[in-house]
Amino acid sequence: MRFAPSPTGMFHMGSARSVLYNWAFARHNGGALVLRIEDTDAARNRPEWIDDIISAMAWLGIDGSQYEGPFLQSDNLGKHTQAASELYRQGRAYYCDCKREDVIARTGDQHRGYDGYCRDRGLRPGAGRALRFRAPDTGVTVIDDLIRGKTVFENSTIEDFVLARSDGSVLFLLANVVDDMDQRITHVLRSEEHLPNTPKQQLLWEALGQQPPAWGHLSILVNEKRQKLSKRRDKLALETYRDEGYLAAAVRNYLMLLGWAPGGDREIMPFDEMVAEFRLEDVNPSPAYFDIKKMRAFNGEYIRALSPADFISACQPWLEPAVAPWPAERFDPAVFAELAPLAQTRVALLAEIVPMVDFAFLPDPVSDEGSWAKAMKEPAADVLAAVLAAYESVPWQAADLRQRLEQIGEPFGLSLGKAQAPVRVAVTGRTVGLPLFESLEVLGREESLRRIRAAHARLTGQRS
Ligand code: GLU
Repeated sequence: MRFAPSPTGMFHMGSARSVLYNWAFARHNGGALVLRIEDTDAARNRPEWIDDIISAMAWLGIDGSQYEGPFLQSDNLGKHTQAASELYRQGRAYYCDCKREDVIARTGDQHRGYDGYCRDRGLRPGAGRALRFRAPDTGVTVIDDLIRGKTVFENSTIEDFVLARSDGSVLFLLANVVDDMDQRITHVLRSEEHLPNTPKQQLLWEALGQQPPAWGHLSILVNEKRQKLSKRRDKLALETYRDEGYLAAAVRNYLMLLGWAPGGDREIMPFDEMVAEFRLEDVNPSPAYFDIKKMRAFNGEYIRALSPADFISACQPWLEPAVAPWPAERFDPAVFAELAPLAQTRVALLAEIVPMVDFAFLPDPVSDEGSWAKAMKEPAADVLAAVLAAYESVPWQAADLRQRLEQIGEPFGLSLGKAQAPVRVAVTGRTVGLPLFESLEVLGREESLRRIRAAHARLTGQRS
């Protein structure tokens, strides 16, 4: 098996699924996975993009111990050229000096492929001459796809495609085949977007005298409108999800189910169990709906399944001084540890932890005018005044704080939820968040009262 990404500066979720399927298949069958970076498009290539691929894979759990490589396609240019020469020597390829305009002028059709004009001109290599494969005119090429079954291509529809540019550089179709041969790849599992290339590549394998690999083409991913995922419209990059606080295990689990099902109603399951059951016969060839909401729900389940200690350590990247919104010296890990179990059941993404706990570490609550306006309606000032009086002496425990607020709300005809709103906004700045009374308990009497007093003063136009 191999995973052969071209570095593009981001790791597409479709690539993530491809590499997981390749890895699962290799592990299930006791095979090896090769990582080959197809970096021959020098104009669109940066060394750090290769590191991005390696680190995205490692995040998914596929670290360097899980594959051979990384090999760089650009290290194999000699073999690509050799194969091109070999095909020329055998008469399976010929040089061509036609320009695109010449072909269009001859065929009168913008969309038709090459018309074979130079096939029998016997041109020798030279400036301005590309090398083309002499595709068979008759017969068929059959791709026995592991996922799609047999697909038959009429050879007459396969044009004499270019193998090498006039500067001698070998193009993707041949380079990819030569590398697969060189790396003794027996199974190619890749996106269905490559399906049109496959008959051409199978012909190249045969022309070079080798047994082609078994091919499997994975469906594309589509969004909720059943449109193919696109950079412009959709969030595609694995890195984005990682940075929002998806857990690798949840993403891995979700991606495995994009086109494959383990049977029964099972969805959330350990990766090793999926590997044990993974068979390409069960992979669905139709487009797979990449449902972010569902992936998010998976993530919430994985977060809730963490031990409290693992949850706290998973949150660390969002608490680092460089990214957290509070002054570093105000952060207290012991306070965070008290709040963490309250948050663990409420976040679907780890990044959501920050707005839930920031009230405990910011000098003042965030100021959110919308929340203020919503919560500070009549009789908010009276409620806050009563709370200030009552909370001076109440035992500082969630249950007591709750009970007192309930009593305060009653004469105003306020449910506990309604009575909480101004207190919550006074203390945290937000209308939603962690359970209020537990939050107050953690924040402490003095700081809680200071904030409630400040909000009351702002409401009544007094100085606090
Ligand atoms: N480098 C190709 C791509 O990223 C993959 C080729 C293949 O898997 O055969 O689309």
